[in-house]
Amino acid sequence: KKDNATNRAVVIGLGRFGGSVAMELMRQRTEVLAIDSNPKIVDRYADRVTHAAVADSTDDDALRQLGVHRFHRAVVAIGTDLEASILTTSLLGDFAIPSIWAKGLSRQHASILERVGAHHVVLPEHDMGERVAHLVMGRMLDYI
Ligand code: ATP
Repeated sequence: KKDNATNRAVVIGLGRFGGSVAMELMRQRTEVLAIDSNPKIVDRYADRVTHAAVADSTDDDALRQLGVHRFHRAVVAIGTDLEASILTTSLLGDFAIPSIWAKGLSRQHASILERVGAHHVVLPEHDMGERVAHLVMGRMLDYI
């Protein structure tokens, strides 16, 4: 049986990216705490994840009340609000969460996220663009 803390993840920001991360984690039988500051968006996920909560993830106390500091895996999927993305990532870093993933919009944003505590940064559009270039040339084997 898997250790409880390792078989769950917190996903912060439920836009297209964070939403699909949360849904795929659920499909993989991971327990998901999904957080967004927009109540309408949280409503949409209420029946689809283990726990869905409305909270401002830049608020240390709000995150602690939800028990975020006890998670071993976290995904920061906030995009356009750079301040929120950076501050949230740094709070998770302060919590010493062992595996923090964050979404970046640019190389500069990615570099800041790494400096404030992200262990892994993804640049979805950049990464997918590279991948499509390989697929266009029929080099699918690069990705197996
Ligand atoms: P995507 O491309 O994944 O659809 P995006 O890059 O446009 O998303 P946003 O829509 O800006 O990213 O952010 C994703 C989600 O993060 C939104 O649903 C937004 O409500 C949420 N969000 C933004 N700031 C905070 C915050 N401080 N606390 C919690 N959630 C937040």
